[in-house]
Amino acid sequence: MIRDILIATHNPDKLKELEELVNPLKLRLHFLRELPGFYPTEEDQETLQKNAMKKALEAAKYSGLITLADDTGLFIEALNGAPGIMSARFAGNSCSYSDNRQKVLRLLQNIQIRKAYFKTAVALSAPDGIIAVTEGRLEGEITTEERGNNGFGYDSIFAVNGKTYAEMNADEKNHLSHRALAIKSIIPILQKIINN
Ligand code: IMP
Repeated sequence: MIRDILIATHNPDKLKELEELVNPLKLRLHFLRELPGFYPTEEDQETLQKNAMKKALEAAKYSGLITLADDTGLFIEALNGAPGIMSARFAGNSCSYSDNRQKVLRLLQNIQIRKAYFKTAVALSAPDGIIAVTEGRLEGEITTEERGNNGFGYDSIFAVNGKTYAEMNADEKNHLSHRALAIKSIIPILQKIINN
């Protein structure tokens, strides 16, 4: 049976990745652009998991559809875990991806220990409540300069085994990324919903 699932993100870069990651499943995907009256959920919770659950539940209630949402952060050891939950607005309220990357590179100038990890929480919700939440985490390091032209956000300064996400093509990133790991964990639950 084909199931209708809403992907609740307004970020076109994340949407593209999420779409590709759930593509192998028998799902009829729906998008927030089909719900022009739906305002973005305020991401005011203290953890990625809680933000992902809030986003998924609000959109599921509004649409009446089973809904998938994610929330992601980059956690840098030398910055005590920053930007973490504040990853989107690290350089200020209306900052660009580039402003955020430049701030990270500036703060890490002359710092040798550049360990960091990306974490994504993925939540699946029905209109009457959360079904499941999973997490994916990938360790890497912050480069000393931007490298690569693909991807978005912090991709050009986050390297795994010497290669930045922005130096990987979409397939390579989707094979190993934090988001891919979180989606992989939620796939068996989506599969059960499809089979019901
Ligand atoms: P969000 O709160 O989940 O939308 O993500 C917070 C911020 O993290 C985004 O605005 C991006 O700058 C960054 N981000 C999220 N996912 C990724 C990724 O896969 N690669 C690089 N940056 C990302």
